[in-house]
Amino acid sequence: MAKRDYYEVLGVAKNASEEDIKKAYRKLAMKHHPDRNPDSKTAEGKFKEVKEAYEMLSDAQKRDAYDRYGHAGVDPNMGGGSAGGAGGFGDSFGDIFGDIFGGGARGGRSAGPQVYRGADLRYNLEITLEQAAHGFDTTIRVPTWDACETCHGSGAKAGTSPSTCSTCGGHGQVRMQQGFFSIQQTCPKCHGTGKTITDPCPPCGGAGKIKRNKTLEVKIPAGIDDGMRIRSSGNGEPGTNGGPSGDLYVEVHIKQHTVFQRDGDDLHCEIPISFTKAALGGDIEVPTLSGKASFSIPEGTQSGKTFRLRSKGIKGVRSGYAGDLFCHVVVETPVKLTEAQKASLREFERLTLEGGAKHSPQSKSWMDKVKGFFE
Ligand SMILES: [Zn+2]
Ligand SMILES: [Zn+2]
Repeated sequence: MAKRDYYEVLGVAKNASEEDIKKAYRKLAMKHHPDRNPDSKTAEGKFKEVKEAYEMLSDAQKRDAYDRYGHAGVDPNMGGGSAGGAGGFGDSFGDIFGDIFGGGARGGRSAGPQVYRGADLRYNLEITLEQAAHGFDTTIRVPTWDACETCHGSGAKAGTSPSTCSTCGGHGQVRMQQGFFSIQQTCPKCHGTGKTITDPCPPCGGAGKIKRNKTLEVKIPAGIDDGMRIRSSGNGEPGTNGGPSGDLYVEVHIKQHTVFQRDGDDLHCEIPISFTKAALGGDIEVPTLSGKASFSIPEGTQSGKTFRLRSKGIKGVRSGYAGDLFCHVVVETPVKLTEAQKASLREFERLTLEGGAKHSPQSKSWMDKVKGFFE
């Protein structure tokens, strides 16, 4: 079953403020709370729907992702499917938009050193519009961390071993008294590892890991748009104390194109035509991202007129449909004319004036307005 729009679920506008969203959520949560509707079969489902909508829209980051990509942007279960042919990437490049906000294990509140998930990394990849339209395979160099071979990851110099942190007693956390509250914090001395190294291992400087570079294969799916990200799970920074690694996000940036401007799946381009062609009409050949196309312009085409070539845009990675190509015609005034050309234009002007105002309705209507202005 299709998921309902979160804004619709909460009954708020797309531009609703945080306060409005909160209000709407409170009202609906009260109404559908299962405790208040013990006999209803649908209350629980509704309550869950409302709760999920609120969780997504009350978090600025998630709301932004939802506004941009819809449910696929925030729902881990829908990521791969909606990406359309984005699967099967080299290395562990799996899904686009998938599980962007999936939380890692951040447990370890009880005794023992705290387990941290590694930080996510972002890689900015600049590509051309053609590459974005057709998709392509590339390789990128990204940092990776290997366990130090000298100390086998302990960070301590050969012959020594890490000692238990004296500040936190190996727990990785300390309790701080702040007014009436006792707050648990990551130990400032050992940064949560629970251990201190007195004699650091020289090759890794006590970190227990060494930064290197590795080559990753990336498959950029056809139709990708500027700012979209591809996730490579587990290729971020390594976790601490056995925590999972973060993810690597390849963020795509599309270079400006000399001919086309992109707007979603549509393309726009300006096409200069001679004023004789504009007046007489005829066929025009235009470039597209997949070869040439042609269309006819009618007699009397004015500058600024737009012609739409269906399905000659970009096939969107999410929509799966090809956008259109909009050709904006600009009539060019001829320059650097020879005497013979000028003479023939003067003759043309004389004939046009003889024909009267019907040949230039825009000028006629403009002149009429100006007359009215001075009267
Ligand atoms: Zn080492
Ligand atoms: Zn400590």
